[in-house]
Amino acid sequence: MHNSTPAQHRLVVLGAGESGFGAAILAKDKGMNVFLSDSGTIAEKYRSRLVDEGIAFEEGRHSMDRILSADEIVKSPGIPLDAPVIVEARKKNIPVISEIEFAGRYTDSKMVCITGSNGKTTTTMLTHHILTKAGIDASLAGNVGISLAYQVARDPHDVYVVELSSFQLDNMYDFKANIAVILNITPDHLDRYDHRMQNYVNAKFRILQNMCPSDCFIFWNDDPVITEQLRHITTEARMLPFSESYEENSAAYIDAENELIFNTPGTSMSMPRADLALNGLHNVFNSMAAGLSACICRVSKDDIREALSDFCGVEHRLEPVTEIDGVRWINDSKATNVNSCYYALEAMTEPTVLILGGKDKGNDYSEILPLVKEKVRAIVAMGKDNAKIVDFFAPHVGTIVDTHSLDDAVAACRRLAEPGWTVLLSPCCASFDLFSSYEDRGRKFKAAVMAMKG
Ligand code: ADP
Repeated sequence: MHNSTPAQHRLVVLGAGESGFGAAILAKDKGMNVFLSDSGTIAEKYRSRLVDEGIAFEEGRHSMDRILSADEIVKSPGIPLDAPVIVEARKKNIPVISEIEFAGRYTDSKMVCITGSNGKTTTTMLTHHILTKAGIDASLAGNVGISLAYQVARDPHDVYVVELSSFQLDNMYDFKANIAVILNITPDHLDRYDHRMQNYVNAKFRILQNMCPSDCFIFWNDDPVITEQLRHITTEARMLPFSESYEENSAAYIDAENELIFNTPGTSMSMPRADLALNGLHNVFNSMAAGLSACICRVSKDDIREALSDFCGVEHRLEPVTEIDGVRWINDSKATNVNSCYYALEAMTEPTVLILGGKDKGNDYSEILPLVKEKVRAIVAMGKDNAKIVDFFAPHVGTIVDTHSLDDAVAACRRLAEPGWTVLLSPCCASFDLFSSYEDRGRKFKAAVMAMKG
């Protein structure tokens, strides 16, 4: 730990969201000379607290002179590495770190760190649920909840369950996870990685940095990208792979009787797959990762079984909304890429009307085509421009409706879905053409559905 940081250490924090605000608080509490700069508008809840705390800040600009006189910069994950301010800082050899890296210097608490292209939030919340239910003082951090830096400064806990995006990992160097989880790696955010998949894979694997033999690495062994990367890197951490069915060395898998098996150095246990609270094969994997983390944290078998079966799920992730006239409505608004929609479809057991569309990130829909052909009776496209979706699916799906608003999309689904069917919002796309965020899209969808119910 770097507890001896000199009082005149000039720390600049770039970006005043949850992580930047937390980093500024921690820097203040450590007696540093801190300055926070945000090129946009700072949300009122952070601005007023910065004023109360007496932390120097600016918004609507980056004052280069002041920023480039820093000894160190904490960069918020939303700021790309090629932003001019970061490029200039690099030229001057000013270290640029992430908020997690910064916070990690000031705590010895146990770190359970979770990354992957899909399933991070679900697995993070599920892991946290198991640990807290077992009486462990665990707290959420990273992309969910209160920032790690703030908690380290003002509300410390024994264990942090940290959701890590590749953007956080980009600027992590000395941070060490005690348990690292990589759920899966599929193409995402490649615009931030020079459109090179390997750069994105390398960022994800930074989660293994600095791990030692007493640490554990939990990963999905059926993922070709992960297994290929493992042929090229080494880690001292104990490897705990999980897989759909039994493989040599599998620490978790489903056996022939549909039992979920966990086999770690400290724990051997099983539970019926049917008892899992979360549906869908992808959630079996998320449950394996969370359950393995809990085994390592010495949670009892009974507590693990109980918590895996009573978890309430996370909003906007395969979230059941309601049933109207025999039709089930499901909100999976968080499915902003094709792979997550794949797993949503995989979980469908009834004929489905699928709402697709929004801001396309270069999607290749062929990945979901077999499942669409098998399960989807109608597609309702919902976006400003649906041409790509309509053109791609027209030869394969009998009914495609082209809509440009949520109300029209929901009305079309209502017309099309027959009793016993499911309407699934799992759009494969970002929401920004018609909504402010995926949460906004999911909430408006739920409100529109509930309004029909009356
Ligand atoms: P993240 O935080 O990584 O974006 P979430 O838990 O928020 O992940 O889930 C995002 C979407 O990905 C959901 O719509 C869900 O259906 C899908 N998903 C969840 N877990 C997985 C997984 N293990 N593999 C593939 N897709 C998944």
